[in-house]
Amino acid sequence: MSRPRLLIVGIDGATWKLMRPWIEDGSLPTLADLVRRGSSGQLLSVPNMHSPAAWTSFMTGTNPGKHGIFFFSERAPGSYQLRPINGGRREGKTMWRLLSDGGFRVGVLNVPMTYPAESLGEGFMIAGMDAPRATSARFTHPETLAVEIEQHVRRGVLQTGLISGAIGTDIVRGRYAQAGKTLVERVNLRTAVCDYLLRTRPTDVFAVVYTETDGAQHFFWRFVDPSHPDYRPGEAVRYGAVIRDVYRAIDRGVAGMMARHKPDAVLIVSDHGFGPAFGPQGSMQFLQLLLEALGFMVPLHEGLTENAAPARRSGLHRRVLRQILSAAPWVLPQNMRTLLRRVPGVRAVRRSAGYRLDWARSRAFCAGCPGEVFVNLRGREPEGCVEPGVEYERVREEIIAALGRCRDADGRPIIAEIRRREELYHGPHADKAGDLFVRLVDRAITSVSLDGKVIEIPRRLLGRRRVRSGFHRPEGIFILAGAGIQQGAALEGLRLYDVAPTVLYYLGLPIPAALDGRVALEAFAASFTAARPPSYVDDRQEGGPEVVYSLEEAGAVEERLRDLGYL
Ligand SMILES: [Zn+2]
Repeated sequence: MSRPRLLIVGIDGATWKLMRPWIEDGSLPTLADLVRRGSSGQLLSVPNMHSPAAWTSFMTGTNPGKHGIFFFSERAPGSYQLRPINGGRREGKTMWRLLSDGGFRVGVLNVPMTYPAESLGEGFMIAGMDAPRATSARFTHPETLAVEIEQHVRRGVLQTGLISGAIGTDIVRGRYAQAGKTLVERVNLRTAVCDYLLRTRPTDVFAVVYTETDGAQHFFWRFVDPSHPDYRPGEAVRYGAVIRDVYRAIDRGVAGMMARHKPDAVLIVSDHGFGPAFGPQGSMQFLQLLLEALGFMVPLHEGLTENAAPARRSGLHRRVLRQILSAAPWVLPQNMRTLLRRVPGVRAVRRSAGYRLDWARSRAFCAGCPGEVFVNLRGREPEGCVEPGVEYERVREEIIAALGRCRDADGRPIIAEIRRREELYHGPHADKAGDLFVRLVDRAITSVSLDGKVIEIPRRLLGRRRVRSGFHRPEGIFILAGAGIQQGAALEGLRLYDVAPTVLYYLGLPIPAALDGRVALEAFAASFTAARPPSYVDDRQEGGPEVVYSLEEAGAVEERLRDLGYL
């Protein structure tokens, strides 16, 4: 095995919770076979469980504090404004670069946060969901590859991998069957592209990420999980098969790719797991609502807690919207405001990000990545009001204590965990993360009280759970099977950071010492590891070229994030 061949398939959001039963009942024969003859286990995601951070950690082997990508957007330096980002912001080499430099022919398709596509020598790359669209310049490398695929496979076959607005619209309008059909079709289109690439461009390492599982689980979770408050047996009969059908289409895709590529080993990973969303889970608005009710965020005019009141809700939003759009909202960049004017039903977007704070009195705020809380720190924020040092620490402690005292209708805590930034991330970009990261309990929350005071949750937040009924969890999946791999081993304690070093090790390349992960030696046969101790190199990290979106491209990216419910 001089230059082993490896097939890597990413399944966004794949979880053993769903896969195990389907492996056992024969629904996923290819994945079942890989589990049987390989090593497998849980793969712990990055702390914030968001796909951009997670897939970047997967391909760099570093924590987001080092690679610098935490979410689809980040705040512009010295500003409260968000801007969408792409893979060009990444610091550190991807394993694709290391493998290509190490003499492997590498092909990469639709891994999130790979735009602009890297040049991989004899290999190729087709970027992911951070590309403005599949027709964008630098979506593929070489650039001619896009036209070639469209000509030979089918027009419009290339996708960025982000779930399209059409699916979101179908879900909102209750056309679940149509949305489910589209999701499976998209899996099959991606498989068709893989098939074409594997036929025409020989590679040693071929990697593809299927993102339809993430969308399917966000939208269809309540049809497979009786613990979800909106589970209805009748609907479960009608739509309960959609997620499984998406996994089955991927399972068939893996079988086809294995037949074409004839890999020595196959690696299957997910970037995070999945579970039910009971409403506010993963919603930035809910955290904003709590911080406002607790007095940490102080709105200038009408706040979230006020406009949640039924008497003030009706008929108000058009006027307020116009007011907000004309009043330079603190997180909405100009291009997004322009976009919002054209979008019907913008109320949710406006409420999530478009209202203004009294910065002199707001000690904390939320921006960008759901779950994160920033302290309004003097010297760091444009209108910071909290002094660094003792006061900063005190504000963090107060927020932790106040959120910790919040109770649900049954008197139980609503917060599963709150972590300080430095407990989660390290490296030159760690300061991009929120000062706190908050995770809610895995239960339905219908009301919140603090020290006897009731905080009303707007119905629109609870209503979201019908649209987006599933949300990310930390526990993803890892399967490695093939030559040199242990048979049937159950792996424990693997983290996403371990994937890149493990791949480099398997392919016989040295591992950069700066990586945060370890080689999962326990996945390999004793005879394999005995002959090959891992080797390490001191490899300086380097950044890629940053590509700044045009106004129109940024609008396109943001529109799709809105469809997903992220903005
Ligand atoms: Zn994901």
